[in-house]
Amino acid sequence: MNMLEPLLDLFFPPRCLSCNTAISSAKDALCLSCFSSISLEQTLRCGECLARIPEEKRICHKSFPYILGAASHYSDPHIRALIQGLKFRHAHAAAEVLGSLLAKYLQNVPLQLSAFTILPIPLSSKRERERGYNQSALLARSLQTHIQIPILENVLVRIKHSDPQSQLEKWELRRENVREAFRVINPDLLPKSKILLLDDVTTSGATFFEAAKVLRENGARQILAIAAAKA
Ligand SMILES: [Zn+2]
Ligand SMILES: [Zn+2]
Repeated sequence: MNMLEPLLDLFFPPRCLSCNTAISSAKDALCLSCFSSISLEQTLRCGECLARIPEEKRICHKSFPYILGAASHYSDPHIRALIQGLKFRHAHAAAEVLGSLLAKYLQNVPLQLSAFTILPIPLSSKRERERGYNQSALLARSLQTHIQIPILENVLVRIKHSDPQSQLEKWELRRENVREAFRVINPDLLPKSKILLLDDVTTSGATFFEAAKVLRENGARQILAIAAAKA
């Protein structure tokens, strides 16, 4: 803990990122009332048509490169507050809460989690320099405090600096924006089995698609793309 934190709390009491009521610790990010009203998804989905998938078995679109696991909906105002906090301020507190929600979601869907390796979606080096951190990597570390599986970094890199996907309306534009955006740089380090590809939010799925495609080309057999929220 930063030595100034107790002093800062005294003058600027920490507030819930969603409803702005005072909370006892900045680490909580949300008040108990907002936190407990978040409802989590219960199933995995087909990455292409979003059909619910029982267990890890595909029932449709078997060649699509990933299965989707989105823990919640971006339309939930508390989730939105956490994700905005993760990107723009309060990154660590928001990552802790989102990581615990992701863990809770993953423990509720039928998965053998111990077989997976977490791979956070990388930012371009320019974007990471601007922000000072990669929010997906923060989320990965938070998730790992609940589910002890390895994190893999420095294997997938983002070679194209794209516009933020949230500013693009159409699927074709989103797709074009991230096309060929990723490359595997250390294929020998890539586990040839199960990858938990992790991002904070998924909208059209175009980012997951591009990343999963190159991971599959480099030998990853099964990819579960997980996001804290689906927009
Ligand atoms: Zn609140
Ligand atoms: Zn499908």
